[in-house]
Amino acid sequence: MSLIVQKFGGSSVRDKERLYRAAQRAVDTYQKGNQVVVVVSAQGNTTDSLIKKAQEIGDTPPGREMDVLLSTGEQISMALMAMAISGLGCPAISLTGWQAGIKTCETHQNARIRHIDTTRIREELAKGNIVVVAGFQGIDEQENITTLGRGGSDSTAVALAEALLADRCQIFTDVEGIYTADPQVVEEAVKLTSISYDEMLKLASMGAKVLHDRSVAMARRGNVVLEVLSSITESEGTVVQENSNSAAPHLQGVTADRTVVRYCIKGLNRESGGLYTFIEELAQAGIRPDLLGQNEEGEIFFTAAHSKREEINRILKKRRLHIKEEDIWAKITAVGQQLTAFPKLKKEFFEVLHEAEIPWEDSWMEEDRFSVLVLRERANDAVHALHQVVLRHHLK
Ligand code: ADP
Ligand code: ASP
Ligand code: MG
Repeated sequence: MSLIVQKFGGSSVRDKERLYRAAQRAVDTYQKGNQVVVVVSAQGNTTDSLIKKAQEIGDTPPGREMDVLLSTGEQISMALMAMAISGLGCPAISLTGWQAGIKTCETHQNARIRHIDTTRIREELAKGNIVVVAGFQGIDEQENITTLGRGGSDSTAVALAEALLADRCQIFTDVEGIYTADPQVVEEAVKLTSISYDEMLKLASMGAKVLHDRSVAMARRGNVVLEVLSSITESEGTVVQENSNSAAPHLQGVTADRTVVRYCIKGLNRESGGLYTFIEELAQAGIRPDLLGQNEEGEIFFTAAHSKREEINRILKKRRLHIKEEDIWAKITAVGQQLTAFPKLKKEFFEVLHEAEIPWEDSWMEEDRFSVLVLRERANDAVHALHQVVLRHHLK
C-alpha cells in the first residue's frame, strides 16, 4: 500500500464542478488501494478577497489577525472537499493545520514549518479515512494561527509528504505540468517531462509561481518525489527530482518577477568597506540584493523583493543614505545548467531583446541563470524573446 499526498490549488477547487473532479481523483487513488492525504487551497480568489476585506478595515492590520482571517479560506475548502469525497462514497475527515499537527515559527504571513506531529493524521488514515488537510496554515509555539506566505499550500503538501514518508507528492493545478515558460504567457512553451530540484527552485524563486519556492527546497532536502499535473485533464505531468549528473549544458526555462524594486544609493563606498557592511546588514534582515552593481558616478544599485521595501528603507534611513527607489521594473530570468559553457549566450539574449525593441537595464550571468531588468510593461515581451534562446539550447 502506498501513501500519496495530493494537493489541489485554488482553481482546482474553485466551484462545485472542479471540487468534485478533484475529489474523484482522490477517491480513484484511494480505491486503487492507496492511503491518501489531500491538501487544499482556498477556492479561486478567496485569499485575495479576504485581504481586500482586511484593507477595508484599516491600512496596517495586525499580522496575527491577518492570519486568523486568511486561514479561513482553506478551512472552507477542506470541509467542502471532505463532504464531496463522502458524497462519492469514501470515508473522509478534514483537519485544520493545528489539528494536523503543523507547527511553525511565529512569523505571521510568512511562517516556516518547523515540525509536524503526524499522530492524528496517521490515526485517521488507519481508520480508513481520506484525510483532507487545510493548506497554507499552522500554529506557532503560543498556539497562534500562522500562514505560510502566498502560494504556501504547496509547502504544506511537501512537508506532509516528507513527515509521513509518502511515496509521492502530487501538486494538481490548472496547467498540465511545468513548462519552459508560463504557458498562459507563451503559447509555444514546452512541457517538461522532468526538471531538477535546483532548476525548479531557481525558477520558483525568480517568479514562476507554479510551485512555492520553499516547497521545492523542502522536497530537495527530504528527497520527496514531487509531481506537477493537471487537475482537469488526465495527461502526464512533470516530475521534479534529483539532477542527473550527466546532463549537458542547457537552458531549461524562463520566468518573470514583476515584484522587484530597484534601488540606487549614493554615498556607499565600495573600497572603504561600507558596501560590505551594508550587504551584511541586509542579509541579517533576510534580504538578498540581486543584480548588484555600480555605475560610473559611483552609485550602487541593486534589486530586492517588493515585500522587503519597508525593511530596506529602515536600514537606509538609519545609515542616512540618499536613495532612489524605482518600482517600474521586472526581472526576467532564464534558468539552466553550466551556462558559461555557451560562449555567446549573453550576446544571444541581448540580440533577441534588441530585435524585439525591448530596452534593458542591469543584467547578471552565472552558471545557472541569466537575469535582466526590463520595464514591467514589457515583461511578457521579454519572456517571449528570451524563450526563443531557451528553446535553442533546451535538451529534449
Ligand atoms: P494553484 O492555484 O494550483 O496553486 P498557481 O496559480 O499558484 O496554481 O500556479 C499555477 C500557474 O503557474 C499556472 O496557471 C501558470 O500560469 C503559472 N506558471 C508560471 N510559470 C510556469 C511554468 N514555467 N510552468 C507552468 N506554469 C507556470
Ligand atoms: N490560498 C493561499 C494563497 O492564495 C495559499 C495557496 O493558494 O497556496 O496564496
Ligand atoms: Mg500556487
